[in-house]
Amino acid sequence: MKVKKGDNVLITAGKDKGRTGKIIKALPKELKILVEGINLKKKHVRPKREGEKGQVVEIPAAMDMSNVKLICPKCGKATRVGYATEKDIKNRICKKCKQII
Ligand SMILES: [Zn+2]
Repeated sequence: MKVKKGDNVLITAGKDKGRTGKIIKALPKELKILVEGINLKKKHVRPKREGEKGQVVEIPAAMDMSNVKLICPKCGKATRVGYATEKDIKNRICKKCKQII
């Protein structure tokens, strides 16, 4: 997983290309992510009680994590992710500023 929950990402493909958002859920098995406010799909919600109206809500749909780039929290640039191992701990590093992120 190059990206994980809580990361800010730049969308690089699809209808939301160029927008940014925060990952609210990562699905490692499917290599998919859900990004806040991105790739919204309309969903009809059934009324829970009698007398209530059903409504349409927009919720983020899963998208391929290959369609996003991580925004480095240190330098603020959209970057690729590298790894550096130090004392048996694998750290993610920003390819632009080389800091651990
Ligand atoms: Zn950086």
